Amino acid sequence: MIFGRERLPVKTPEQIVLMRRAGLVVGECLELLAGSTRAGMTTGDLDGIAEEFIRGQGGTPSFLGYYGFPATLCVSVNDEVVHGIPGDRVLHDGDLVSIDCGAIVAGWHGDAAITLVVGGDDAADDADLQLSAATRRALWAGIAGLRPGIGIYDIGGVIEDSVRSSARADGRDYGILDGYTGHGIGTEMHMEPTVYNERVRPHGPQVRAGATVAVEPMLTLGSHESHELADEWTVVTNDGARAAHWEHTVAVTDGGLWVLTAVDGGAAELGSVGATYAPID
Ligand code: MG
Ligand code: MG
Repeated sequence: MIFGRERLPVKTPEQIVLMRRAGLVVGECLELLAGSTRAGMTTGDLDGIAEEFIRGQGGTPSFLGYYGFPATLCVSVNDEVVHGIPGDRVLHDGDLVSIDCGAIVAGWHGDAAITLVVGGDDAADDADLQLSAATRRALWAGIAGLRPGIGIYDIGGVIEDSVRSSARADGRDYGILDGYTGHGIGTEMHMEPTVYNERVRPHGPQVRAGATVAVEPMLTLGSHESHELADEWTVVTNDGARAAHWEHTVAVTDGGLWVLTAVDGGAAELGSVGATYAPID
């Protein structure tokens, strides 16, 4: 049990600069994958591209071997939400694909995820596009909520409010996946604290400069309930509804935020969500 007065682990500016190196490898890898994904490719093809890129940048895939996970990426298609194992599955136009990527550089971790539709917007269901956009909006709302003094668990309420607001605007009832959260990150991928995707009662430790966390809302077009497949990894929705997942690793810096897994560090988006882009030189 973590009480509100517990202090959030923080990194030095030098350590955050090292985390940026890992974050940039992850961000660039996801941009490469977003630009490469085509109908007819397998999810294993995406995994091969990612592993080659990460190793070429001097990094190590952090998911590979994590509790026995057998691949570089998690690739989760349609009703799969997270932790899909890349393999022989062939992608088709209109598939809703979440790609989660993690890398270690010089001992420091980056972790991020994107959702895309194979074949682009023209091949997509409107509902899938709205779901992905709502998830991405919730991610950036959560990121912008990372202000010194707020309780880290309160990010859950910020994300939930964003999801409810998108649901009203879109005329849909999005599910926030139950039992899965964001997390602290640094010398390991998953560290304290938990970063909730919905409102919880305790506020948690106060956000302060030097905090580094992964924010990662996971939404569905239906229920919040899921289960693991027999492979003991792939998480699918119980009702078969499609799902989206967006994630960034973020550092709270003096004066603002640095989105370590965004290729531009968050420069383009932070202002539009009311946050300040404040990289460490
Ligand atoms: Mg991830
Ligand atoms: Mg994560």
